[in-house]
Amino acid sequence: MSGAFLADVDTFFDRAADQLDLPVGLAEKIRVANATYTTRFGVRLRDRMFTFTGWRSTHSTHQTPAKGGLRYAMACSAEEVEALAALMTYKCALIGVPYGGSKGALQIDPSEWTEAELEKITRRFAQELIRHRFLDSAMNVPAPDIGTGERTMMWIADEYSRLRPDDINGQACVTGKPLGGGGIDGRIEATGRGVQYAVQAFFETESLCRPVFGASGLKGQTVIVQGFGNVGAHLAQFLSADDGAKIIAIIERDIVLYRPEGIDIAGLLAHREKTGGLAGFAGASARPPAPDDLTMPCDILVPAAIEGVIDDAIAKSLGARMVVEAANGPCTAAGDRILAQRGIPVIPDLYANAGGVVVSYFEWVKNISHMPFGLLERRYHEKGHRMLTSKIENAMGTAIDWQGGESYLSGPTEIDMVRSGLEDAMRTTLARIVQVQETRPGTTLRDAAYALAISRIAEAYRAIGV
Ligand code: GLU
Repeated sequence: MSGAFLADVDTFFDRAADQLDLPVGLAEKIRVANATYTTRFGVRLRDRMFTFTGWRSTHSTHQTPAKGGLRYAMACSAEEVEALAALMTYKCALIGVPYGGSKGALQIDPSEWTEAELEKITRRFAQELIRHRFLDSAMNVPAPDIGTGERTMMWIADEYSRLRPDDINGQACVTGKPLGGGGIDGRIEATGRGVQYAVQAFFETESLCRPVFGASGLKGQTVIVQGFGNVGAHLAQFLSADDGAKIIAIIERDIVLYRPEGIDIAGLLAHREKTGGLAGFAGASARPPAPDDLTMPCDILVPAAIEGVIDDAIAKSLGARMVVEAANGPCTAAGDRILAQRGIPVIPDLYANAGGVVVSYFEWVKNISHMPFGLLERRYHEKGHRMLTSKIENAMGTAIDWQGGESYLSGPTEIDMVRSGLEDAMRTTLARIVQVQETRPGTTLRDAAYALAISRIAEAYRAIGV
């Protein structure tokens, strides 16, 4: 399965690279992983020794640090990590953050261990990664992924500060940290928020939207979300609350919730907060998952869980009008071809879910600059805005009716700046992908996104004369 995932990412790469005029041998250099480190380490727990296996792959260092998440899952392997690391290289190049690509995994089921045990295991894993320079504020910077979160990142940052107390940028050795530990406002929601901006931008781009949805907008579109983790839950909340889309089904590993009129996502989140799960939610019908859940009819299908879920068989009977890859690698190469033949557009992973790494970049810059965003200029702008406002009000002889926009007066907060930077990255990138698509009729969004990413990496190689 994971070997197939790597082969699929390489297929996507080759298909785009073949269309580009690259110097002989460069495509292969860009495609392969630079180095993949495997570690097997022991931790004494429950009065015995346990051996854990972990990986960190650096796919590319054409820009440094190499960047990418760290996942805790039982189903992981060196090949899977290499595929995910490659996707990180292409994602960063495409979205315009100056990083190479990396990814890591630890073969563990986090639900089987207590918090204290997880901390011990994480710190040992971090020690191994630090020792081999696969964790370093300047060279390789992890972030949360499946099975990890703020707490995991904080343990890693703390372990790093003990082993590398001389690194003045030590806090920047991981991103996705809690706010009080050097994190940034908006990092947790970032991937879901980025997917929302991508979907909004798709619907506002006439050449993309019209062939599938005619003149209709995002409001009222029916959405099925597979995976109600950090990305899926935030996205479901944003699409329903801000855009008026109807989330008609949530597909989880152990349960499917369905309500054709749209599920009240805020209510569902409150229920999960209270009970710890989705079962027992009164606002939707519930049933166990079935193999063909993803083929249920809807306007927008959002796989936000794991790779390989839309293979050729599922793609043939897919009932959605478009697919948004919030997870990494949900469509196999064969599935992707069938969707293209059926005229079902796919917003590809390397673009759709890039919001996480964009905001990681903001956090990393904040850490290495050692200064909170806005400290120097916020007050200055506030004074200017207030002065201008009072002059306009005097001239008009009436007070401005801000209609909720008065936050303009006080200047942007960190979350305002993070969202604005993220929205800009997502919108400009889609416009660039569409430009590439327009020069090559028949090209999918994925092919165009890969072509753009590969050209940018090739440019970096050319700039150093390779
Ligand atoms: N794990 C996320 C991804 O797959 C975030 C990576 C990062 O922020 O470095 O894009």
